[in-house]
Amino acid sequence: MAEIFNDRSVLSKNYVPAKLITRDAEIEEVLWLIQPMLSRGDPKNALIYGKSGTGKTVVTRYALDEMNRRIQAKKTNIVSVFINCGDTKTTPQILMRIMEKIAPETPMPKGLATSEYYRKLWDAVNMQHTSLIVVFDEINHLSDYNILYVLSRAGENQYINFENTIGIIGLSNNLFFSEHLEPRIISSLSPHNMVFPPYTADQLIKILADRAVLAFQPDVLDVDVVPLCAALSAQEHGDARKALILLDNAGAMAERGNAATVTEFHVRDGYEKMAHDCVVDMVATLPLQSKLVLYSIIELTAIEKHPTTGQIEERYRTVCEHAQFPVMSRTTISKLVSELETIGFVNAPIVNRGRRGRTRKITLQVDVERVKATLLADPIVGCI
Ligand code: ADP
Ligand code: MG
Repeated sequence: MAEIFNDRSVLSKNYVPAKLITRDAEIEEVLWLIQPMLSRGDPKNALIYGKSGTGKTVVTRYALDEMNRRIQAKKTNIVSVFINCGDTKTTPQILMRIMEKIAPETPMPKGLATSEYYRKLWDAVNMQHTSLIVVFDEINHLSDYNILYVLSRAGENQYINFENTIGIIGLSNNLFFSEHLEPRIISSLSPHNMVFPPYTADQLIKILADRAVLAFQPDVLDVDVVPLCAALSAQEHGDARKALILLDNAGAMAERGNAATVTEFHVRDGYEKMAHDCVVDMVATLPLQSKLVLYSIIELTAIEKHPTTGQIEERYRTVCEHAQFPVMSRTTISKLVSELETIGFVNAPIVNRGRRGRTRKITLQVDVERVKATLLADPIVGCI
């Protein structure tokens, strides 16, 4: 069998490339925020925005690594803590994480009042004369934004000594994130705002080409593979993460087909697989009631190609009763159908039936078998 991959881990999401492509200005800008700390100056807080896959995480990590090198040369006591708010969201969890880095020997029992955790942090900072850089990645997942207020005011409120400082950098995929922050938090953060633009096709070509050399065996990639992956991903919001997954998928398709080289066709197959995986993820994460409505629509469609809202409601009732589940009201069902329409799973135009009033005619827009299989994988839907 022809070998396609050399080192596939280079394409995985956890791989940190040795050099970053076309983000020098952004790396410099992040360093500019924290650089003053090296000479005991105040850091600037920042919010970094950009769609997913525009390099926010990797650029910030890269800048912190560079900062750590500079810190070592200067022998100053500055500690950076990188928090992924997707899994470390509550204030106690975050304070424990910071403490692990600066004072791992301090016992941090679970279940204390939040103020106790803060007190332990201030003590540690003051005892050790530490300054902190705290990065909140996926900051919109924080369960309580007040931590941004407390940390950014720590000096002013004299919780920590004047020679110690705390710099805060928040990363967000949502360009309107700061609208969720109370004015008092924004004003105490006074963030410097940065926006990472989507990558262009040319930039994606460079990012992919750089990894492809390590990821694949020599000469297995057709010349148009990387440009095609880049072009398709540039259309999809210039997302480097998706571009890398696409290149990996294309390689996997070639391997599966026992091909000697990766061609444009494998990229197209890989692209379809990505769209499919995306639908499967969306179905799997739907709330249970939406799953039940979608399941009812799928069942009905086997008999009636374009069922009406009334028919769906009836079928949904039977499904719920069978599963001994509370039945939602007509308005809620109608709302759930509208939501399924918003995410593109169904088409549901309103049709006028003269004296019989108006209804919606529902048409499924997804691959029925695949969606049904995903729905049935849910332990509750699977028992119906
Ligand atoms: P974001 O945090 O904006 O969603 P990431 O920083 O996680 O995006 O980047 C997504 C993927 O693309 C990562 O695997 C990362 O290594 C890669 N990547 C992003 N930007 C670059 C770049 N400029 N050079 C090389 N690889 C990059
Ligand atoms: Mg990220």
